[in-house]
Amino acid sequence: MILIVDDNQNNIYSLKKLLESKDFQVDTAISGEEALGKALKNNYALIILDVQMPVMDGFEVAETFSGYSKTKEIPIIFLSAVNKEKEFITRGYASGGMDYVTKPIDPEILLLKVKTFYNLQENSLAMKKTQRSLEKEVKGRREAQVTMRSEIDHFHLMLEALPQIAFTLDGDGKVNFVNSKWYEYSASELEFPETHPDDKNIQYEFERCKKKGKALELESRIKNITTGDYRFHLLRMSPVYDGKSIKNWVGTFTDIDDQKKVEKEKDEFLSIASHELKTPLTSIKAYMQLLDRKLKINEGTTEANYVNKALSQVEKLNTLITDLLDVSKIDNGKLKINKKPTNLDSVIHTAIETILQTHDDKVKITRHGFIPDILIPLDAIRIEQVLINFLTNAIKYSPENNQVIVTTFVDENEVRVSVTDFGIGIPDFKQDAVFKKFYRVEESSLQFQGMGIGLYICSEIIQQHDGTIGLSSVVEEGSTFYFTLPLN
Ligand code: ADP
Repeated sequence: MILIVDDNQNNIYSLKKLLESKDFQVDTAISGEEALGKALKNNYALIILDVQMPVMDGFEVAETFSGYSKTKEIPIIFLSAVNKEKEFITRGYASGGMDYVTKPIDPEILLLKVKTFYNLQENSLAMKKTQRSLEKEVKGRREAQVTMRSEIDHFHLMLEALPQIAFTLDGDGKVNFVNSKWYEYSASELEFPETHPDDKNIQYEFERCKKKGKALELESRIKNITTGDYRFHLLRMSPVYDGKSIKNWVGTFTDIDDQKKVEKEKDEFLSIASHELKTPLTSIKAYMQLLDRKLKINEGTTEANYVNKALSQVEKLNTLITDLLDVSKIDNGKLKINKKPTNLDSVIHTAIETILQTHDDKVKITRHGFIPDILIPLDAIRIEQVLINFLTNAIKYSPENNQVIVTTFVDENEVRVSVTDFGIGIPDFKQDAVFKKFYRVEESSLQFQGMGIGLYICSEIIQQHDGTIGLSSVVEEGSTFYFTLPLN
């Protein structure tokens, strides 16, 4: 908008008409005071100011405008009828005017000047606006940077306070922060600590997880650079996602060496104890069997009955000790599997017969599915052990229902055997843990006897057959444990 300031209404009228004919928006004021009031309130792109006005002349008005930040930048064109001399014109420029036009006005010239100043002012306003918004953005970015920096510092301080070795990597997997503990195991932040030659390579394992975008968890012995000793550490590296891409990784090495030593001592003790128990137990079993044979002559006597009961307890003890020995074999990598082409159906049959003989008549085992008459490479004794374990558990953990279903299914690659019961079931979040060593579901551990190693051994046996093991279960409804074996 353009502001015309003139004490003469006729001048204002003709000038206003001229500008409006060229589509300019026009506002008017008949004195310097009115002009100042309006200019402070509204935004004008140009002021056309008459020089000869009573009270405040045009030059004074222009000088006053130059004292206010809101008005000092507005271009002014002076209009004057009398003051054509050089000194007046000079004063006009000195007081902040942009141009000086003398009356009588040549409308075309005036319009050209107005257009030029108007456009100039519009452009400079637009530029200022852009500059302001740029400044705002730069300021915002600077503030965000400062906040981010302080958050990172805070995070690094937290990592420094951890008792573990802690470090971070950028999205490409390059280490960009390590806490001081790192330097106990590595001389440079560019290199991971050195691992024991028998353990997995950290960089290689990390590259594999990076490709999948998954967290890495690894137990590994790393070398202390001062003592040269290897200590067991649990390495965890987790990706931090920003949308779908990985922003960075956070990693820790937790020293688990003492825990590992205690575990090893416990395993050694179990191994020695079970070996030592096995020998006298085998003798007891042999003598009991001799006694049993002698007493068979007078079958039905109380003594024969006692010997029978003692024998079944000895058998239970024998199974427990054999299981413990298996666990120590697994721990030492000595559980050997002897695969031979075998008829799986007969292995299943033997396992079911054994269970039926050692349990009371209430137990009912039904078979579903069919196995073609093929030979599968497997260790019959070990697979029977897995089946007996599944079946024993199915009966043990179903105190209200003695029905068990054994289902077999074969496709071109593998055979799947599952054992279903209608017992107490296992809560969802505990299902994965049942295959871990010494794990027992808390809710049922007091009610049912056991050591929590049967399924651990089963899982090892099946893994050594290159098969899979798993379960599905619903609490209070029952469980299905299954394993698969490759046909070739
Ligand atoms: P154990 O039976 O000697 O405790 P296992 O290794 O055979 O050891 O089983 C581990 C745990 O899994 C058991 O303690 C029990 O809590 C749970 N479990 C196994 N089989 C079943 C089942 N059929 N129904 C419900 N819980 C089961």
